[in-house]
Amino acid sequence: ESFLTMNLSRPVLKALTTLQFHKPTPIQAATIPVALLGKDVVGGAVTGSGKTAAFIIPTLERMLYREKGKHAAATRCLILVPTRELAVQCFDVGTKLSIHTDVRFCLVVGGLSVKSQEVALRTRPDVIIATPGRLIDHIRNSPSFTLDTLDVLVLDEADRMLSDGFAEELAEIIKSCPVARQTMLFSATMTDSVDELVKMSLNKPVRLFV
Ligand code: AMP
Repeated sequence: ESFLTMNLSRPVLKALTTLQFHKPTPIQAATIPVALLGKDVVGGAVTGSGKTAAFIIPTLERMLYREKGKHAAATRCLILVPTRELAVQCFDVGTKLSIHTDVRFCLVVGGLSVKSQEVALRTRPDVIIATPGRLIDHIRNSPSFTLDTLDVLVLDEADRMLSDGFAEELAEIIKSCPVARQTMLFSATMTDSVDELVKMSLNKPVRLFV
């Protein structure tokens, strides 16, 4: 397997070279081609498997493709993770992989000022990486915040978000997203509640367990 046969754009391939990602990990090899087709994906993957790049790479490719006439800044991807630490790690991978592009990422997590995040969100970053609790604050309390322009939703470490008690927040966030979207869900374990979340938020997902 090679990144070179995946039809990735030059800026992304260049970033992969700089990062010395020479070969896709198994979860990347399984996920990227399916996700590039726009299909919903359920991935069984733990931290350390390279799952972050597995969803960031196809997301970036989709962000790089802008429909004709749609040039206004709009948030097109939301990545939800259970903790601030995971959000920061994901932001780091996203920033590095997008270094040769104009795709903008924004971190929305607890511990940072809500006001400064509001200012950042008003610029309509392409990708928001958020924890559910803080994102809900913005959905409920900032009138200008909207997820209406979303193309891609990523639910990372879904089992952990559910066991951390975020089920209600997740349901509310998913209801705020457009129905026509691509959704990718990753989870280390497949519990009944993860299955329920899959049924609620994904459309004919391709299940990838590597
Ligand atoms: P993750 O499971 O997403 O937390 O990634 C685990 C680690 O693997 C991170 O430090 C990544 O930088 C690294 N990594 C991800 N994909 C690759 C790859 N294709 N080649 C080498 N290292 C990678």
